[in-house]
Amino acid sequence: MQRAGNLDFDSQEIKQYIRALKEIDFEPAYLALLTCEGLKPLSRWEKPLDNYGLGLLHQTGLLTKQIQRTVKTGKVVIETIFSTSFGYIQLYEKRFAGTPIDKSAQTQRFEGFLFGFPPCCVDEYIRHPYAKNDLSPEEQKILFHWACTNCKITPLLLPAYKSTYDLLNSF
Ligand SMILES: [Zn+2]
Repeated sequence: MQRAGNLDFDSQEIKQYIRALKEIDFEPAYLALLTCEGLKPLSRWEKPLDNYGLGLLHQTGLLTKQIQRTVKTGKVVIETIFSTSFGYIQLYEKRFAGTPIDKSAQTQRFEGFLFGFPPCCVDEYIRHPYAKNDLSPEEQKILFHWACTNCKITPLLLPAYKSTYDLLNSF
């Protein structure tokens, strides 16, 4: 299949970088591919990455930033964000750098916008988290948002997520 992303996934070099990311953890590798393909404007891995890990993300064409946040106890946590667009990195940094992690409706809406979540799903999740949807567990698990009941957008996203997920598993 012809892929529209910026990356040449047939390149052995690119495959090596993605494999190395996968060795760190499956999640940042999957998020990186989804972001490279433009399915997510920005991704957040809720952990720090060392220079080696950040370098791997840069090799796939992503811009990165480590963001310092705090949790309720006052403990500092480091998040890694990445995007192909400097604008999205800046939006995230300006809004969240140095702030306590919160789950307010306002935050969830802005995060949904940055992470490429359908607004209908974000809205329903705010009102009724994990409401019953039409997805199979296998479909739901490859997404980063909880699909809303009778979602009209998620079924259009699923094939693209699935092909990225399968591609990553083939590396
Ligand atoms: Zn929805």
